[in-house]
Amino acid sequence: ALFYRQLPKVELHAHLNGSVSSETMDLLMKRKPHLNIERGMTAILREQRRSLDECFQVFKVIHQLVDSGEDILLVAKAVIQEFAADGVKYLELRSTPREVTETGLTKQIYIETVLEAIRQCKQEGVDIDVRHTGGISTCLNRFLVAVDRRHGPEVAMETVKLAEDFMLCSGGTVVGLDLSGDPTVGHGKTLLPALQKAKNCGLKLALHLSEVPSQRDESELLLNLPPDRIGHGTFLHPEVGGSDSLVDKVCKQNIPIEMCLTSNVIGQTVPSYDKHHFQYWYNRGHPCVLCTDDKGVFSTDLSQEYQLAASTFKLSAEDVWNLSQQAIGCTFAPEPIKQKLEKMWAELKQQIL
Ligand code: 5GP
Repeated sequence: ALFYRQLPKVELHAHLNGSVSSETMDLLMKRKPHLNIERGMTAILREQRRSLDECFQVFKVIHQLVDSGEDILLVAKAVIQEFAADGVKYLELRSTPREVTETGLTKQIYIETVLEAIRQCKQEGVDIDVRHTGGISTCLNRFLVAVDRRHGPEVAMETVKLAEDFMLCSGGTVVGLDLSGDPTVGHGKTLLPALQKAKNCGLKLALHLSEVPSQRDESELLLNLPPDRIGHGTFLHPEVGGSDSLVDKVCKQNIPIEMCLTSNVIGQTVPSYDKHHFQYWYNRGHPCVLCTDDKGVFSTDLSQEYQLAASTFKLSAEDVWNLSQQAIGCTFAPEPIKQKLEKMWAELKQQIL
């Protein structure tokens, strides 16, 4: 277990509100006792299985607990610190900006607050220190603005405009756009104009694709953009009802896939760990990036996800190292940062492997 914690890691698929730890949740529950929310309502234990729909219900509860600028600052800082403590050296956090009239929260303030949390963490030293790559709690953070597909094309377009504004004024912290939300709701074709606009203005696209079997046509369409990374991609390959054409598109464009083992098994889109589509893509030598998705909701962390992949798919320590190193190339970080991360991995390799 120590090896996986020490292993330098890159986290590219983490939803802010799904990543809130039970410790932070306890704090929020104490602050808002009138909501009558208890521990079991914001997290699902590893042994449990839920429908995807039930998983989405959990986010509704969490959103009640996290509904002000003050809450966002608290959870964002805590989540960044927790990832750093778990050995994550580079983090791309994603979150859907929300407005809450009662607390004065606007989408603008929402994003500003996440950026403020990132700034404060950097100031407090929870950020990469390229001169001391051996330091333990170092983490470099980026932000992806998320579009919730349930809210439709107009909101998506507004969110893209907001993301573009922040991309231009955040000093490189806002790097991309995420498309997420209940995959059974709406169709990606209505969101194409917004996604295209995001791409044209230089935002990187990390899109949840083929999370459920019914999304085949949608994936076919969205892969033409193309996205810069794919979230889950559970049902892309023909063995699970996808198609050769989808696999071809992903392979030819070499689009990395973010894979979240625990999340997919708990949410039952994948029947068991050994049946996870990681195997299919990894065997093809395709870039696969292990991620947590929602470390709070699914009671996991990135070290655990690496350990799980290693034990399930019989990966050697060297394989695991290469997997974490390969993720550097899949980040939305500019080239100099990637080089610094490569250097850090090279330096740590002798100590850890
Ligand atoms: P937030 O964006 O509020 O920080 O994080 C929670 C949100 O992330 C959820 O409401 C949902 O839109 C999105 N999300 C979290 N996990 C998943 C997932 O596994 N699949 C999809 N499609 N969306 C998710």
